[in-house]
Amino acid sequence: MSFGGFEGCTITELTGAAPNASPTMPTAYFTHALCHRHEMGPGHPECPQRLAAIEDRLLTTGLADLIERRSAPEAQLADLERAHDALLLAALAEQSIQAGHSADAGGSPWVQIDPDTAANRHTWSAALRAAGAVVAATDAVIAGQVDNAFCAVRPPGHHACRAQAMGFCFLNNVAVAALHALEVHGLRRVAIIDFDVHHGNGTEDIVAGDDRILMVSFFQHPLYPYSGTEPAAANLLNLPVAPYTRGPAVRELIEQHWLPRLEAFAPELILISAGFDAHRDDELGQLGLVEADYAWITRRRMDLAACHAGGRIVSSLEGGYHLDALARSVEAHLRALADL
Ligand SMILES: [Zn+2]
Repeated sequence: MSFGGFEGCTITELTGAAPNASPTMPTAYFTHALCHRHEMGPGHPECPQRLAAIEDRLLTTGLADLIERRSAPEAQLADLERAHDALLLAALAEQSIQAGHSADAGGSPWVQIDPDTAANRHTWSAALRAAGAVVAATDAVIAGQVDNAFCAVRPPGHHACRAQAMGFCFLNNVAVAALHALEVHGLRRVAIIDFDVHHGNGTEDIVAGDDRILMVSFFQHPLYPYSGTEPAAANLLNLPVAPYTRGPAVRELIEQHWLPRLEAFAPELILISAGFDAHRDDELGQLGLVEADYAWITRRRMDLAACHAGGRIVSSLEGGYHLDALARSVEAHLRALADL
């Protein structure tokens, strides 16, 4: 039996799945002031102004009043260690300490990790809040306090591998939350949806072969990190797309490839690696998505979540470097999540 156009979704699933059908505000917005303190040098595209642009947009549009703002706690070490090697975690904490000592001594305020990625004295604290936001958001949606949540956090996470920080990323926020949902809450199936313009190689590194997780993504190829064309395991569905591909073609790929796999998997929670750098104004990629595409992608995921996951969606900011396009795209994403 189908219902309201939700292919393969029964009335029982729709009505029985939502543990809290009418929370005061359906969408939570997790962030933390420390996420603005991490910065990687003059002119770096992954800059604190990204979060400021989002905040400004939410205020000027009135959207800030329609979502429930929450402060991100620090992630717990036990949560991080499910996704990352202990040696990496110790090294990241130490690098921020070193950056602080260097700055205090009049030296460089940064410890360089790769040509694009650097830690300052606040990086470890910001990374703990970013991962903590996604874990807390996961707790909140599983508890039925809110239907869904968006985490406006940085540093982003989807290039962070089990044992290596890279590509502007230090801790893999979404992978940490997925493993938390499985191990702490006892969920059996978690879907990760990655629509950043870059391949989420770090998430793939952590979740490949874990059949409790289905990761679906599209990304521009060729583009950094030049991986993902050969899926590393059966629980990964990668759709590399050519530069200059626009929204309608991406939507068609999603309908044809993502949705059947996601429907068959029937996730109990959907996590989104929400990068907005596939926007046509973003200069770090060459894809042609616009705000309406992000709204469409979000609404299609909500249909799926309504069927299988009690509406539970946790979305976390990844890329998106054109400040105006990022702010407008996040607004479109949030309006869809909050059903506004
Ligand atoms: Zn990206």
